[in-house]
Amino acid sequence: MKVIVPVKRVVDYNVKVRVKSDGTGVDIANVKMSMNPFDEIAVEEAVRLKEKGAATEVIAVSCGVAQCQETLRTAMAIGADRAILVETDVELQPLAVAKLLKALVDKEQPGLVILGKQAIDDDANQTGQMLAALADLPQATFASKVEIAGDKAKVTREIDGGLETLEVNLPAVVTTDLRLNEPRYVTLPNIMKAKKKPLETVKPADLGVDVAPRLKTLKVAEPAKRGAGVKVPDVAALVDKLKNEAKVI
Ligand code: AMP
Repeated sequence: MKVIVPVKRVVDYNVKVRVKSDGTGVDIANVKMSMNPFDEIAVEEAVRLKEKGAATEVIAVSCGVAQCQETLRTAMAIGADRAILVETDVELQPLAVAKLLKALVDKEQPGLVILGKQAIDDDANQTGQMLAALADLPQATFASKVEIAGDKAKVTREIDGGLETLEVNLPAVVTTDLRLNEPRYVTLPNIMKAKKKPLETVKPADLGVDVAPRLKTLKVAEPAKRGAGVKVPDVAALVDKLKNEAKVI
């Protein structure tokens, strides 16, 4: 069974992003970029499936600028076997990515596609669901456990107030939640090995996909600044402030 893992290059989660002065977006010039954390979990899960014998090949896919190659090399250092870069300078929105992935699903015929549940830059939480719809595949989102048995996957999902377990027929689309696994550290020998693994580059037009943006960002703004807090001497003073100043109790 082949597993496709889409990995997005995003601003590193440790970076405090700054809004551009003209309000058109956030400034990503000279900012550290990394693999979307949920995608690292997805790669780790796919590699574990291969190590358990449930998967035969793990293919990492990234859509975006040429530098996404670095993200793909990281995926291969974790253990993906090969990579595909769908290269474009166009700003990609979830629907465009889902269409590109659908074209690759048609071509590669994977048994499973494991995506992150959301990208930490756009926070869209849309691509996996759109891919499932376009490719007409069953989906199990926000996975905290994935077990493959024959031509089915049992997926445990974290939902409000507990856990839900779904069984889906393969091929299927699964998206990862934070607690699915803890990705391994990438070792130097594996980084060196990853440099020799195959990385194919295609363009959206090669896949017959129009990636023109359908959504327009009107304005990006910093959250309103919060006023400084005050320290209260005791519980009685806190209750008094909540009652008489904030008027919330
Ligand atoms: P989103 O719907 O944008 O929150 O992204 C959800 C997931 O879709 C991510 O965690 C990735 O697995 C995948 N994805 C989104 N954009 C891309 C991209 N440009 N290249 C590869 N995978 C992507």
